Formats: sequence, structure tokens, C-alpha cells
Amino acid sequence: MDTEKAKAPFTDWQVERINKFQESNACHPYTCMDAYCNRSKVPYGGRLIAKNEGLVCPCGKYTQDECNPFMIDYEDDMLE
Ligand SMILES: [Zn+2]
Repeated sequence: MDTEKAKAPFTDWQVERINKFQESNACHPYTCMDAYCNRSKVPYGGRLIAKNEGLVCPCGKYTQDECNPFMIDYEDDMLE
């Protein structure tokens, strides 16, 4: 099994795929890992938002520069 992580910077296509995955209920989404992040106060409960530079929290204090490849390379009907 391929355990290699997908690394930032992400392409626009990858960003779109990751966000679609994060917004679905297919899997628990990546959330902010910043100890000082008030996840109940930030949008989406600290769910990370993919951008070209990585996955960022709306709090602005946390960026994750990698994600699981299955969050990009998946079958669309898996998210239904
Ligand atoms: Zn945060």
C-alpha cells in the first residue's frame, strides 16, 4: 500500500479535490492542531481548508503541508 503523503504546494486541481473530500462526510476531516485554536469559534470547527500552499485553518495559526493521497485520488461516488 502506498503510504507516501501528498505534499504542498498543491495544484488547483488537487486543492479542489481535497476541499471536496474535506467537505464530505466520507472520513473525519483534517482539523486544526494548534493548541490555542478555539475550534468552536472558527468557521467549520477548525476544519482545514486546502489552498495551493497547504491545508490551513481559518484561525490562521495552523498550516499542514501534506495530506493523505486518498484525499485527492478517489472515486467521486465514494463521497456520496
Ligand atoms: Zn485553528
